[in-house]
Amino acid sequence: MVNKKRIEVLSKETIDKIAAGEVVERPASVVKELMENAIDANSTAITVEIKDGGISYIRISDNGDGILREDVRNAFLRHSTSKIRRVEDLLSVSSLGFRGEALSSISAVSKVELLTKTKEDITGVSFRIEGGEEKEFTEMATPDGTTFIVRQLFYNTPARKKFLKSPMTEGNYISEVVEKLAISHPGISFRFLVNNQEKFATSGNGNLLDVIYQLYGRDITKELVEVNHETAHFKINGYIGSPLVHRGNRNYETFFVNGRYVKSQLLMRSLEAGYEGFLMQHQYPFAVLNLDFSMKDVDVNVHPTKQEVRFFEGEQISEELNHLITDVLRHREDISEIPLFEEQKKEETTDSASENKPVSFGAEPFEKKRLQDFKEKIDQTIQEEISVKQEKPKFVQQTFLTEESIKHHRIIGEVFDTFWLVEFDEALYIIDQHAAHEKVLFEKTMARLKDMTMTSQQISPPIIVSLSDADMTLLFENEEEFKRVGYEFETFGGNEVALTGIPGNIFGIDEKDLFLQTIASLSDVKKSSHPDLILEKIASMSCKAAVKGHDHLSMEEAKTLINDLLSLENPYHCPHGRPTIVRMTHYELDKKFKRIV
Ligand code: ADP
Ligand code: MG
Repeated sequence: MVNKKRIEVLSKETIDKIAAGEVVERPASVVKELMENAIDANSTAITVEIKDGGISYIRISDNGDGILREDVRNAFLRHSTSKIRRVEDLLSVSSLGFRGEALSSISAVSKVELLTKTKEDITGVSFRIEGGEEKEFTEMATPDGTTFIVRQLFYNTPARKKFLKSPMTEGNYISEVVEKLAISHPGISFRFLVNNQEKFATSGNGNLLDVIYQLYGRDITKELVEVNHETAHFKINGYIGSPLVHRGNRNYETFFVNGRYVKSQLLMRSLEAGYEGFLMQHQYPFAVLNLDFSMKDVDVNVHPTKQEVRFFEGEQISEELNHLITDVLRHREDISEIPLFEEQKKEETTDSASENKPVSFGAEPFEKKRLQDFKEKIDQTIQEEISVKQEKPKFVQQTFLTEESIKHHRIIGEVFDTFWLVEFDEALYIIDQHAAHEKVLFEKTMARLKDMTMTSQQISPPIIVSLSDADMTLLFENEEEFKRVGYEFETFGGNEVALTGIPGNIFGIDEKDLFLQTIASLSDVKKSSHPDLILEKIASMSCKAAVKGHDHLSMEEAKTLINDLLSLENPYHCPHGRPTIVRMTHYELDKKFKRIV
């Protein structure tokens, strides 16, 4: 006999717990939902406090509209919302939430205490609800606005609690949520407390730069480059970090689409592709960018709790962003300073009190704010803080590589067969001859590739190279690119190829080795990010090899090299993203030798 289970309607409690699973994945989801509610309620100040990674305690207080006494119970019912009334409203909804699921879900799996009061009411309400069950409803004198305290998340769903990570990790997820919401609302003042300690506070004066400074500190803010452009598909504004600012992961790549925080692989990858050649592998840029699209190009409602976004013409959008970022980066000079005096460096980075001190520059909208003003103000603050008694350092003009300034270069000579020293305008410039040479060759090669004037040199007799299946595939998938750079080869039966030609500019190297290394280097190129990437990779490998043979430069060759650099679009980084030039100022040397204290 078949043991058939009977069909039964689930209890409200079970339904709510199941639904809660979709909205409340971890403490960070509670923080996100409650913060979004606070933002939707027109708050101008929001405090977020967590203990124990949010697992035992989360408090969100706001000074917003509050909830009417008679609405309090309803707010905790599933699908209860004040934000939409009918399906048509979905098209115009501008609030962050509207599904009316958060409060019911959160209260189904934790112990919630709510204090709330509207401006019109004289007294407020204190409401307690645990595991979806009302425990207390009393009148109480409270300030205008709303406070939610959520204790013991998942106390009644142990299976879910087991899936939580350590309090430290859960706390980090929460930090990310609070940071991103703070950065997307410069007009709201946020305070974030972790285990009774203030992590950060933003001023709420409406200025994005201030928020970036308050969240990430001065080192990043000083290195920002403004982005303000329009492409065929979008308008974009915000800031990106210079190549001097890089991180080991993508946490510092922040995007908004039509003002709404999104996590988009496509945007992140395109941004990173734009930094190709400026950053090394596994280095990720800093960016806070808002992209405005017309509604027909984008769907931001893919998943309301997951910040996803779908682009209808993803490929073109990716191209546009990638090229735009590269363009912005190319049009600035960046030569990094050698941090000569460690003592001061240390002072600057460990001085956390001053790090958090808000710098206020008025409340103009950030689009109008000149980045330069801001940086100057930061410089001023730094100068005041380290209270330098002597005259201020002369800032070296960013003009090392111009026709005019080259006339005033004094080339001193070479050290370690690697670095060329040049004195110019109150600073000592150090050029990495190999990186510079490689860069020059690379740009020349790319130019010749564009003009289709690459040459190759014949190898005779041909070199027979055995390849793995994977390498065979890589080689023939990219056959056209290899041939354009100057390689010539044909199949020689099985997994062997006969190499008959290599790029014309390579001398004195092991051709087979280079060929194999170049094929291997393609395995980690992100194909989708840029159509020319494969070609660039192959070309850059050959330039690297070409430079190897040339160890010693004469003074004349060094001059030619500097002149060649001058004509490049991005002379400050080699094709692999390493810097080609660094600078040490006269002032820093004086400091180092204690000529000035
Ligand atoms: P949704 O945000 O999708 O409407 P929620 O379950 O998050 O649904 O919230 C239900 C309702 O409770 C909201 O529509 C809002 O009216 C009210 N509410 C929640 N949090 C706040 C708050 N911090 N301030 C004012 N009203 C709030
Ligand atoms: Mg909500």
